[in-house]
Amino acid sequence: MKTALVTGGGSGIGQAVAHRLGADGYHVATLDLHPSDAPFAHTADVTDRAQVDEALAAVREALGPVTVLVNAAGLDGFARFTDLTFETWQRVLDVNLNGVFHCVQAVLPDMLEAGWGRIVNISSSSAHSGQPFMTHYVAAKSAVNGLTKALALELGPRGITVNAVPPGFIDTPMLRRAEARERLGGTVEDHIGRTPVRRVGRPEDIAAACAFLVSDEAGYITGQILGVNGGRNT
Ligand code: NAP
Repeated sequence: MKTALVTGGGSGIGQAVAHRLGADGYHVATLDLHPSDAPFAHTADVTDRAQVDEALAAVREALGPVTVLVNAAGLDGFARFTDLTFETWQRVLDVNLNGVFHCVQAVLPDMLEAGWGRIVNISSSSAHSGQPFMTHYVAAKSAVNGLTKALALELGPRGITVNAVPPGFIDTPMLRRAEARERLGGTVEDHIGRTPVRRVGRPEDIAAACAFLVSDEAGYITGQILGVNGGRNT
């Protein structure tokens, strides 16, 4: 049985991915900022390599080597570029981009040893379209797409695939917080009318894409950016 690690697994998309992979028969551990009662839920900040390594050691001890990694931990933010402090810019890059660096590097030895691995990075449709007042977030998520492509080329010969899933408009606490702060340019309901498939995305939509990309049969798919956005970005 394979072991999967899902970062950001305590909420929204990460939680749905963890549930789906559990239902598909993987051992699943999660890593999140805040504590949880869920089995194999580890508390760690993805920007802190020592915390990530410590959590990884505990996961390996309990569940064996990790050969599937889904990076879903993320932090959004809204600020006019002229008002954006360097500290805020840095924190958003730290969580969304450097967190991926730390988690991939920490998990890779297991995948290299196994000669098989699957990495899925949850980026954002905003990396495709741009988004006003989110320069830090869009920069970080665009970099995650770039990292995905470059790493896929490097790791392909070792049996490891690396893909990105940029979600668009998924009904999670992050989206609802943005709605409450009037950052969406309308309500979620308003946006449904502007979405070709005429519904808001569900965390399970992203989980389904991840479940496919981490499967054995997706072994010829690497370095790809698979948009899951109801047709909002084509
Ligand atoms: P969410 O409900 O806020 O979940 C994000 C999770 O990441 C939370 O559990 C959060 O923990 C955790 N997290 C944040 N910073 C972390 C850190 N430094 N270390 C470890 N965990 C951390 O948001 P979501 O919508 O499911 O987002 C999941 C991913 O999809 C994110 O990467 C997000 O950028 C991306 N995304 C979402 C949408 C969307 O429409 N929802 C669109 C595009 C991209 P706390 O809650 O404890 O802070």
